[in-house]
Amino acid sequence: MKPPARPRRATAPPEAPAPEAAASGTLVSEAPATETSLPGAPQSGAVPAATRRRAAAKRPLHGTAEAPRRARRMSAAQAAAFVRALAEANPAPRTELHFTSPYTLLVAVALSAQATDVSVNKATATLFQVADTPAAMLALGEEGVGAHIRRIGLWKAKARNVIRLSQQLLERHGGEVPAERAALEALAGVGRKTANVVLNVAFGEEAMAVDTHIFRLGNRTGLAPGRTPRAVEEELMKRVPPELLRDAHHWLILHGRYICKARLPECWHCVARAHCNYADKVPWPPAAPARSGAG
Ligand code: SF4
Repeated sequence: MKPPARPRRATAPPEAPAPEAAASGTLVSEAPATETSLPGAPQSGAVPAATRRRAAAKRPLHGTAEAPRRARRMSAAQAAAFVRALAEANPAPRTELHFTSPYTLLVAVALSAQATDVSVNKATATLFQVADTPAAMLALGEEGVGAHIRRIGLWKAKARNVIRLSQQLLERHGGEVPAERAALEALAGVGRKTANVVLNVAFGEEAMAVDTHIFRLGNRTGLAPGRTPRAVEEELMKRVPPELLRDAHHWLILHGRYICKARLPECWHCVARAHCNYADKVPWPPAAPARSGAG
């Protein structure tokens, strides 16, 4: 006699993340994303739109000063592959600040602290029309500079520094921007990060300006873990392949600004994800807000 057929076990559908896990920001850390959980994977369609939005809003800012959790340090080969992937995707990177000379670059970078490049470009579009040399800036005066940069954060202090550094350039360097770090850092309002940008962009030096994006990215991905911007900078100088050092600052800053964002890294379309050690990779884009009044 034929034995009775054994009851078949129901096949579970592909697992969707539990909403409460998503809302707590631990969604992916408990089930690390893999290549198979990236776009097209079944989970994404199973997550309600509201849950995705809540998860995005509550994700921890890993790699930032707020939540300085670090990923496992990449191997040297991994670090090189990570930067190469960014390089291949953008062979000719450029700074997004508008400038026409080392001096206007220096002023634009000095204005960009705690401000977006877009807001700085708007301000300098009119400022540089009337003053694009130290002498012209000095003639414009603090009030005059302030009138152009009023929409930028800390504008009063920045206007004061722009005037002081213009005066210092005239007194110490004949109105030229010096190409030495020590001389740059001795100017009013110029710190290591600003000096690094000027040395890199205006003078072609292999310098790494670590801003908030690069600091986060270095820690989050394991590319260059470090507790301070200086520590991240030193790691990057050691780990980025020499032939890529000149432009690495641009690749990393643009990647941090547009893809590896603070709140919601866009891992689902990140060209470097195969080399990244971040455990909480985001496998799907957040749902678009529902359209009302359609039809
Ligand atoms: S976007 Fe995601 S995968 Fe890409 S570097 Fe950032 S954390 Fe890693």
